[in-house]
Amino acid sequence: MLHAVEVDQLSVSYFETTALERLSVRLTSGQLIGIIGPNGAGKSTFIKAIMGLIPAEATSIRLLGQSAKQARTQVAYVPQRSAIDWDFPIRVIDAVLIGCYPQLGLFKRPTKQHRMRARACLDRVGMLDYADRQIGELSGGQQQRVFLARALAQEADLLLLDEPFVGVDAGSEGVIIDLLRVLRDEGKTILVVHHDLSKAADYFDTLLLLNRRIISVGPPQDVLHADLIEAAYGNPLAFLQKVEVSS
Ligand code: ADP
Ligand code: MG
Repeated sequence: MLHAVEVDQLSVSYFETTALERLSVRLTSGQLIGIIGPNGAGKSTFIKAIMGLIPAEATSIRLLGQSAKQARTQVAYVPQRSAIDWDFPIRVIDAVLIGCYPQLGLFKRPTKQHRMRARACLDRVGMLDYADRQIGELSGGQQQRVFLARALAQEADLLLLDEPFVGVDAGSEGVIIDLLRVLRDEGKTILVVHHDLSKAADYFDTLLLLNRRIISVGPPQDVLHADLIEAAYGNPLAFLQKVEVSS
């Protein structure tokens, strides 16, 4: 079975902070996978490290059976909202066209065909009417949908989304999760960093529970287990009010 992500002995440190420690994991392709764990657990670090965006130590990192560098054009990354400068003046359609750049090459201008593809992707996320607006004018949920459209335009096989539901209205959250399910059914692999456990079982095929190292990985009913949650979060009690976990 093909693994979309294969990581062996991944460690990442920021000065004196060890964010990830000898983490090894294999994630099967064609799944919708949630990466959960408390604040500061290293979820964003994990995504950035496998993308090769930050220095990391590892025996091996393979994405879609290739090195991160080889897989680059087949992997789409949507950073955490707080990491994006939303005042940057760019129109919605142009933000989506950036998704076509890996195929475009450096100095080629987008063709009519690329524009049509970008518009079709905006349509898929219900944002075609906003094509000519500035991205800074949109709501959080609308912005997230535009970034998803950009990932679609890239026609990536592996999507990495960091907290896509934070600061997003319920309507947009529904649109996004429905679309992620369709993409999964089309055979794509989608990794979603998600800190809210209440919907984790409903949203994901596989959960990866993380806190500096892997606490558990597997089907949600196995991972959302009181003792594992406690191992990751320290205190399961605050949590039990929000989510039903089996004990
Ligand atoms: P999460 O996404 O799970 O909330 P992060 O991956 O952002 O966690 O962070 C993991 C740990 O690394 C935290 O202790 C955080 O404070 C630290 N960290 C993250 N980014 C940096 C950075 N650029 N410089 C220093 N420390 C960082
Ligand atoms: Mg994070």
